[in-house]
Amino acid sequence: MTDYIQAKGLIKGYVKAYREDMPAYMRRALELSMEALDKQIPVTPGYEDGGFDEEGQETWYPVCISCHSEIDEDYTYCPTCGQRIEWSD
Ligand SMILES: [Zn+2]
Repeated sequence: MTDYIQAKGLIKGYVKAYREDMPAYMRRALELSMEALDKQIPVTPGYEDGGFDEEGQETWYPVCISCHSEIDEDYTYCPTCGQRIEWSD
């Protein structure tokens, strides 16, 4: 995980130093690279209210906190946005 953070820091520093000299497509490619690196850093899922079941118990379902899509508890990546998911015990 620290490799992803370090790589993002290096790219960010490069973009900051050479922003004015690089073509727009290169800047865009580096921005997309930083976004992709961010998605490799695991996040714990959120939970949204699923209403009440037939016994009147409140239900919750897990969601990706990056895009708020519903996710299954065996997913290690969000199938919608690619965010890496870390399930806590
Ligand atoms: Zn997502």
